[in-house]
Amino acid sequence: MSEQEANDALERLCNLLRMEARAFGLRFGLQPVQMEALKYLTQCNRYSDTPQAVGEYLGLTKGTVSQSLKALEQKGLLTKKPDKQDKRVIHLTPTLKGNNLTKKATQTKGLGRALAITNSITDTELTQMLRSVLRGLQQVNGRKAFGACHTCRFNEQHPEGSVCGLTHEPLSAQDVQLICREHQYPQ
Ligand code: SF4
Repeated sequence: MSEQEANDALERLCNLLRMEARAFGLRFGLQPVQMEALKYLTQCNRYSDTPQAVGEYLGLTKGTVSQSLKALEQKGLLTKKPDKQDKRVIHLTPTLKGNNLTKKATQTKGLGRALAITNSITDTELTQMLRSVLRGLQQVNGRKAFGACHTCRFNEQHPEGSVCGLTHEPLSAQDVQLICREHQYPQ
């Protein structure tokens, strides 16, 4: 497969996934960007649950992010809370309703069946391959990785558990599975 063909296939796949996500969101009166912001907030850690991080992750302007978050808050899908130390920083937390909605939306209809048909590659191999393509594209385009904490070069293993080498704060077993705006892969 040529680079152009790979690009076209990925583009069509992304479009299809987006179309499915859009159709799902519209059933609940949500725009695609609102669904994407909500989904991100269910996956990110406490250093990344701010309006600024949502904008960085989705590549959106401050105005679009602000409107989307307002709509999600009005629908009771997320709450806003100022940071304990710096009141200018706002943390965003999906509500139970918001979490339940994203759980229903995460699995694209028919993906399992389509993967089974390919037969030549396992789910794990495909995930690893796609992650590696994503990482490569992020590096080339100078984008933040937003990787899972347990794969970050600042994640330190201490006898008492994981610690973030940047903030020097302890990380729980759940924290290390979440994605982070400060994430960097080992060199
Ligand atoms: S170890 Fe890395 S990914 Fe984890 S919280 Fe710290 S900076 Fe973020």
